[in-house]
Parts: sequence; structure tokens; C-alpha cells
Amino acid sequence: MIAVDLHCHSNVSDGLLPPREVVRLAHSRGCQLFALTDHDDLGGLADAADEAGKLGLRFVTGVEISVSWGRHNLHVVGLGFDPENEALKQGLAQVRSGRWQRAERMAESLAKAGIPGALAGARKYAENPEMISRAHFARYLVEIGKAKDVRSVFYKYLKPGMPGYVEHEWARLHEAVAWITGAGGVAVLAHPGRYDMGPETLRVLLAEFKRLGGGALEVSSGCHGVADVARFGRLCRELGYAASCGTDYHATNEGSREPGLNGDLPDGCEPVWKRWLE
Ligand code: AMP
Ligand code: MN
Ligand code: MN
Ligand code: MN
Repeated sequence: MIAVDLHCHSNVSDGLLPPREVVRLAHSRGCQLFALTDHDDLGGLADAADEAGKLGLRFVTGVEISVSWGRHNLHVVGLGFDPENEALKQGLAQVRSGRWQRAERMAESLAKAGIPGALAGARKYAENPEMISRAHFARYLVEIGKAKDVRSVFYKYLKPGMPGYVEHEWARLHEAVAWITGAGGVAVLAHPGRYDMGPETLRVLLAEFKRLGGGALEVSSGCHGVADVARFGRLCRELGYAASCGTDYHATNEGSREPGLNGDLPDGCEPVWKRWLE
């Protein structure tokens, strides 16, 4: 089994390390095939690819697109696409500009809850001026002592129903899949075990994703427990999806796994990465 990590973040989105350092860290941990998948932004891919080339680490282009599907916020990872594709670049630029509008509304809502200045505070943590995420607000709220760590800040302030959460329209599922596949990539449903939906709604989602051209499910994920891995492995085999594997690394000491861990898949799953090893 080859050690792969096809889901990682840098400070081009809401990770802490620059792209080159994430690549070096993954390589130092034995990773042999790597994709950088920043939220809604391709800005780290050139540096990451260059660094991977120097290290002899096989590299795949990646992105994690924010999607609204009904009331659900889904993440679709794109892998192995042409990063110069215009429709993909334009689609992502549109999603990023929506992030700023949302951030302003989040800050207004936090101000009403007695926390002024959160937009400026979060912006300090956003290395990429085009990309602002709840994770940047979370780091600021920890800084001013609103919670002890990023994880508990999400529970207290940034989850649905909490003062810092506002509704937002992301890309539509069909758009995200079309941007990725239109650029020659494969669309992967990220961490399906994390979505707050029952098994029947999940079935509807998996059927629709397939019909739109989705190619794989993330089976092994930093967000999945053992039962999720087994369950989504079974669903891949049953529904004809390939299986992907990624840590969803953001930052050391923020509760996520380190990048580059080995992702064994359940028996009978077809690894989505086979195509990049030939
Ligand atoms: P956004 O795309 O701006 O809504 O932010 C979502 C990001 O926040 C995710 O990609 C994670 O990096 C982070 N996040 C979401 N939920 C949690 C949580 N419970 N604990 C820590 N980080 C989280
Ligand atoms: Mn994130
Ligand atoms: Mn995600
Ligand atoms: Mn992610």
C-alpha cells in the first residue's frame, strides 16, 4: 500500500503552514503521493508542485470547493485537473468573493452578541487576502479568550445556531462537479461521514453526485472513525465510486491529523489514485 494524502490545507486557505512547508512535512512523514486541496483557491498549487518536484514526491493538483446542497454545506474535492482552466478559475473566484460578504455578516452578528471587531481580528489570520474562513474567526476568538481552543470555539460561536454562524449560498453541486470534470479532474465527495444528514438523504446525495459526474468518495479521512471508513468503503463498492484518502490536515495542535499518513482502504475499494501511478 502506497502512503497517500489527497486532502491537505495550507495558508492559502485556512491551514497554518505555507504550501512548500506542508509538502515538506508530508514528505518527511513518508507520504509518496500528495495533493494540496485548499478551500476554493488554487493559489498554492504552483509552489507545492515545485517543492514536491524537488523532493521527488508525486504531486496531484487539488482544491476543496464549498457547496450548498439544500440546507447542507458540502465539500467537494477536485483532484488532477488543469489549474489553468478558465471556467474553474472563474467559478472559484466567485465563491471566494462570497466568502467576504459572509465574513462581514458573521462579524455583524458577533458584534450583536457583544464581540466587536471580529472582521479585523479574523483578517489578521488570513494570509491570503482573497480567502477568509470560519477557521480565521476561530483563531481570533481564541486569541481574545472566548474559548480555550479552536475546537471549542466552533461549538460556542461558529456552528449553525450560534452567534457567529450565518446562512450562506455556496456553489451549487452541479457547478462544482462541472468545474472540476470540465478541467479534466475527478470530483470527490469530501468526508461524507461529517454531514449532518440521515441515511436516506445521504443516499439521495450519493445518487445525485454520481449522476452529475462525481467519481469518488473520501473513505479514509482525518474526520472519519473506523465505522465511517467501513461504511463508505461499502458504499463505494455498491455504487461504483472509487475511494479516496486524505488527512484534511490544517495545523499541528489544532486537533487534525498530521499530513501524509497511510490510508489503507477497505478490501475491494478501487483507489482513486491508481490513475496517477500509471
Ligand atoms: P468555512 O468554509 O469558512 O465555513 O470554514 C470551515 C472550516 O472550519 C473547515 O474547513 C475547518 O477548517 C474548520 N472547522 C469546521 N468545523 C470545525 C470544528 N468543529 N473544529 C475545528 N475546525 C472546524
Ligand atoms: Mn478548513
Ligand atoms: Mn472539508
Ligand atoms: Mn478540508
